[in-house]
Amino acid sequence: MPDTEHFKNRLIALEKEVSRRLDTIDKDIRHEDMSADWSEQATERENDEVLESLGISEDRKLLMINQALQRIEAGTYFTCLECGEPIPSARLELLPFSSLCVDCAEYLE
Ligand SMILES: [Zn+2]
Repeated sequence: MPDTEHFKNRLIALEKEVSRRLDTIDKDIRHEDMSADWSEQATERENDEVLESLGISEDRKLLMINQALQRIEAGTYFTCLECGEPIPSARLELLPFSSLCVDCAEYLE
């Protein structure tokens, strides 16, 4: 029987970490308006594009973490969404918000 509590705690810790990073990204993007210098603004805009793309992936990560927490509550956390086979806990240790077994993840990617 896999240790649900262990993964739940890891997911909650991860959720906090990603939320905090999203907060920082948000603040960094808003800094753009404060700059008066044009060339500096252009540079900042480039940085913002990078930050925004990061923001999207962190958003997605947060969504996946939330879904994983829901799967823990529903008792389906250790089951692959695609094929219904158990997800090895070694994989979940690496990617706690993963919803697919190794085979399915490789097939879908
Ligand atoms: Zn699978």
